[in-house]
Amino acid sequence: MANKYRTYLIFGAPGSGKGTQGRTLGLVPSFFHCACGDVFRSIETDTPLGRSFLEYSSKGQLVPDEITVELWRVSIERCVDAHEFRPEVDYLVLDGIPRNVSQADLMDPFIDVKTVFHLSCPDRDKLVARLKRRAIKDNRLDDANEEVIRQRLETYQRESKPLLDHYGDSLIVNIDATEPPIVVLHTIVSHIVSGRKSETEFVPDN
Ligand code: ADP
Repeated sequence: MANKYRTYLIFGAPGSGKGTQGRTLGLVPSFFHCACGDVFRSIETDTPLGRSFLEYSSKGQLVPDEITVELWRVSIERCVDAHEFRPEVDYLVLDGIPRNVSQADLMDPFIDVKTVFHLSCPDRDKLVARLKRRAIKDNRLDDANEEVIRQRLETYQRESKPLLDHYGDSLIVNIDATEPPIVVLHTIVSHIVSGRKSETEFVPDN
């Protein structure tokens, strides 16, 4: 691909608040938010891909990498074609993808990662409590069962955490995910704004 999408990654364990931050940032002109979990949940459940998603997510496992990245790619290209995401002016805010090193390698031709915002929450019980609340609020079946939640947290620890080493300290901003959302957002926004390179950067229609 000639020009890679300029990308901010929101990274963290299930329940760390990636979606909340990604969605909020996506409301700001010149930022486009894409959550991989939402892409999966938008697939009809009675299609082969939909069934495959349910099979893996209900066990707290990751959907296989090739399927996931291809699905993400098709979805994001559709957003480009629909002019919802305009890569020449917009920054891409990704949450939930890449989720392991193999996905990062598959996505490397498409994304130029500017910063990885790591929402860190070493207190696993806090994450479990958040996910249980989300199960009720968002009607998420994969959050309803404590065993599946524990499995997702283990998957994160084993497969996703190594991504931090993969991207390296120079790209990572560690943020305390137990702070209120507004404080986390403030840290993310301050970092993005202080990295501004020119007066025209982040101007929506330049
Ligand atoms: P959470 O942030 O709680 O993990 P998501 O909505 O991001 O929730 O993802 C829900 C489920 O969708 C995951 O547990 C996994 O099964 C599947 N999934 C989402 N993103 C990916 C991905 N990048 N690779 C593989 N599976 C994924």
